Amino acid sequence: MSTRRLRVIIIGGGIGGLCLAQGLNTAGIDVAVYERDADPDARTQGYRLNIEPVGSRALHDCLPAHLWQILVATAGDSGPGMGVFTEKMRLLMREDAPPAGLDPTEQTHAVSRVTLRRLLLAGLDGIVHFGKETTGYRQNADGTATALFTDGTSATGDLLVGADGANSRVRRQLLPHARRTPAPGVGIGGKLPLGDGSAWLPEELVSTKNMFLPKRDFLFTAVFRRRETDGTTAEHVGDQLRAADLDPGLLVQDAKDDDYVMWAYVAHRRALPADLPDASAGGRGHRLRDLVASRLTHWHPDLRKLIAQTPADTIEQFDFTTARQIKPWPTTQVTVLGDAAHSMPPVGGLGGNAALYDANVLRRALIAVDRGEAELLPAVAEYERAMLKNGFAAVRAATMYLRLATLPSHTVRTVARTFFRLCGTIPPLRRAIFSD
Ligand SMILES: Cc1cc2nc3c(=O)[nH]c(=O)nc-3n(C[C@H](O)[C@H](O)[C@H](O)COP(=O)(O)OP(=O)(O)OC[C@H]3O[C@@H](n4cnc5c(N)ncnc54)[C@H](O)[C@@H]3O)c2cc1C
Repeated sequence: MSTRRLRVIIIGGGIGGLCLAQGLNTAGIDVAVYERDADPDARTQGYRLNIEPVGSRALHDCLPAHLWQILVATAGDSGPGMGVFTEKMRLLMREDAPPAGLDPTEQTHAVSRVTLRRLLLAGLDGIVHFGKETTGYRQNADGTATALFTDGTSATGDLLVGADGANSRVRRQLLPHARRTPAPGVGIGGKLPLGDGSAWLPEELVSTKNMFLPKRDFLFTAVFRRRETDGTTAEHVGDQLRAADLDPGLLVQDAKDDDYVMWAYVAHRRALPADLPDASAGGRGHRLRDLVASRLTHWHPDLRKLIAQTPADTIEQFDFTTARQIKPWPTTQVTVLGDAAHSMPPVGGLGGNAALYDANVLRRALIAVDRGEAELLPAVAEYERAMLKNGFAAVRAATMYLRLATLPSHTVRTVARTFFRLCGTIPPLRRAIFSD
């Protein structure tokens, strides 16, 4: 068994790549991240990310304790148990709320993407290199791999991890047969801030996540509320912030990201006009909002008002693509993680959680290798098996949610509504199906 210390290079400083880097750095493993963005603030990312318990456990395990505590304190709540309604707001089913007093690692956290990125970058100065766009890699005779960058430079490690997102260059070279296909749905989403003007919102919309299953199309809503006010957050985690050399003002400002209700409307591509406004079109938010409103004319007035009152500059359109199942491949010193392997439609909020799961599994495998308890390639092969199993289970679940959202048949929708109504009235059935 080799006693040489490991060097890991990660391509892509997104959620999965940075979580892995934190975990390896904390374990004392030599790691470097190469990120295409010019700097940490190159992107402002609007929606909060729903971190489910699988993602919470990964972040807890990979982040130093003080960063995990800051994450929990600055996160928001999306409320207990999801409601399933008709478009007239008649309740079909409500998921059971998780038991009170759960450990934060077993809870869901609505995290500002900007805050999450700052926390994932904390303490990684000199480890994360910005402005480094990978064009591909080279596998070397000595068993190492070398990443090549557009600026003509390169970096070599014992393991190269492609965490470079859905359009991954690393995946394209490693697995040229892997395909992504456009999914049939189109999503349009917006944010209505909670404030003085939103007192009219019904309780359901401001307390939990909800899914509306009408005779056509689909609407998802989620409320994001901070757990603590700005003052108490700074007070609560002030020492941890200072220990991490983080600017409390900046971090609390990001997390503040005013409380809001977000909605995501999903329809089959065929149901919408072919000439949806493109990203550069002026007045795009207004046009998207009018389009959604025109599809909701028979819906409950509060749902129509939710759309009508949403500021146009928060409204965006999302096209969905799905990774096709990849068969296992012969393991080498190059692997992939997160969206680079198993991208999926965001319906259900599963992709980021799957990337965090991968990061945690790979972290454990590499710690064993670094300690001399396992050989690199068998450990990576074991990681790849777990990553493919979990990642493509999430892809199938997201695809199923999207199919439900875009079902063209009234009959099948009636069956789906009856199914949820039955689950709503028969608790053992509901628990058996929705308890995890
Ligand atoms: C609207 C929306 C809402 C979502 N909500 C949720 C949610 O609530 N919960 C959830 O779990 N998931 C959610 N997702 C999905 C989630 O955002 C992704 O699954 C997640 O970001 C994947 O993480 P990743 O690290 O694999 O890739 P990414 O986060 O995409 O990171 C990839 C990184 O690689 C960099 N990169 C790309 N190419 C190169 C290159 N050639 N060289 C160097 N660097 C490169 C990119 O700049 C980026 O920083 C949502 C997605 C969308 C679109």
